[in-house]
Amino acid sequence: MRERSFVMLKPDAVKRRLIGDVLNRFERRGLKVVATKMMVINKELAEKHYAEHAEKPFFKDLVDYITSGPVLAMVIEGGECISLIRKMVGATNPKEADMGTIRGDYAIETGRNMIHASDSTESAVREISLFFKDSEICNYILPDEEIIYEEP
Ligand code: UDP
Repeated sequence: MRERSFVMLKPDAVKRRLIGDVLNRFERRGLKVVATKMMVINKELAEKHYAEHAEKPFFKDLVDYITSGPVLAMVIEGGECISLIRKMVGATNPKEADMGTIRGDYAIETGRNMIHASDSTESAVREISLFFKDSEICNYILPDEEIIYEEP
């Protein structure tokens, strides 16, 4: 099995009807969506997910924002996909994000930066288990994996 990352479209992305556009980018890249869940996150889960930022001045606003509407939580699989997806997402502050990245193409402010993606193997494992049971993640093979990868 290739690497897995936890990716989440935040409420601003869902409310702006950008789910399709963003998923299309991941699929076109050759990545595989193996789990999705639309949900409104409660405060407790939001605080756990962003625990590393608990002492930061923006923590309360961040929790308010992420719980303000539906998110699309997902697990994406692909070769070295954690760093690949971070590159596709772009810098935390969309004003500093390169054009061609998701934040650089669609967002303006850090507090409304549309998307979360795991930043390391450890956070991916932790975040996936916060949002998904093992049984909710699908194992399947796509026919073009042997075209996309040198070693399928
Ligand atoms: N954030 C914020 N203000 C800041 C820094 C971060 O509102 O000054 C929010 C923003 O939504 C960001 C999230 O907190 O995506 C998590 O911050 P992190 O540094 O982990 O950035 P990311 O990994 O999302 O790029």
